[in-house]
Amino acid sequence: MREAAQFLADGLHSGPAVALRDSHSIIDCEACGFKHALPLPDAAAMERAYRENYYAQEKPNFLSHAGEDQEWFALSQTDKLEMLERLLPTDRRRLLDIGCGPGFFLATAMKRGWQAHGIEPSRQAAAHARALGARVTEGFFGLETAASLGRFDAIALTNMLEHVPDPIGILRQAYDLLDSGGAICVGVPNDFSPLQLAARAASGAADWWVAPPHHLNYFDFASLGALLTRLGFVIAERSTSFPMEAFVMMGENYIGDPALGRACHNKRKRFDLAFEAAGLGQSRRAFYRALADAGLGREAVIVAVKP
Ligand SMILES: [Zn+2]
Repeated sequence: MREAAQFLADGLHSGPAVALRDSHSIIDCEACGFKHALPLPDAAAMERAYRENYYAQEKPNFLSHAGEDQEWFALSQTDKLEMLERLLPTDRRRLLDIGCGPGFFLATAMKRGWQAHGIEPSRQAAAHARALGARVTEGFFGLETAASLGRFDAIALTNMLEHVPDPIGILRQAYDLLDSGGAICVGVPNDFSPLQLAARAASGAADWWVAPPHHLNYFDFASLGALLTRLGFVIAERSTSFPMEAFVMMGENYIGDPALGRACHNKRKRFDLAFEAAGLGQSRRAFYRALADAGLGREAVIVAVKP
């Protein structure tokens, strides 16, 4: 039998510890309703790190890989845009991508007729997004910058909320920027998922998805959905991406092996693109909706409406 988890508290945040990494504990926070790191970092130090270092030091291959992955990336980008388009009349196409990175999502949106605006702290990524033709505000999304961005019909937050010390504040400000009937599309890693736990048990690897200080928050479909509902959103649709943990469960332990990781990534790209080549994109989307309904898949993607 497992021992009861240690209960940790820091200011408003308290809950049982679910993981420990370096000098951070991850708690299942009872106040926030999702798992996050303790202690949470100083906002100023975090801003410096993302402005200057993130793409250069932490993701040195991101821009080159993102370029070569773009045919595949466009599938999930288009899926997200179609989910938003189904919820909005055709004359409501003002989109904000918070943490737009190098701007590939904005570029796909513009091709579909969206007025696309991004906000992004990394100088290098923001410059890349501008070169693709997007309107980009360089900086952090927060109380100070949010008010200057304008009003929107749709807001996307992809792989962003896991990085920030106050994801609840970010979602509240996003809610305020949407006109009534507007929609949000949030994508985060689906962490502490049953497949991750099974892959961990099968491989003996430590919980590799725990990565503070870059990943501070650890959502799943239940905790992200409950948070959006608590803030006033009405959930419309859920989706996910390929359950990468399945490779580890099948013996392809790519944890700590970037070359094998890249090979597994290429296999899932082939899996997704094979549906498209057969004209079966609807079946690919149905497959990922079904996984999402079961709480599975690498990402938790939730589209929700501001009533
Ligand atoms: Zn908390």
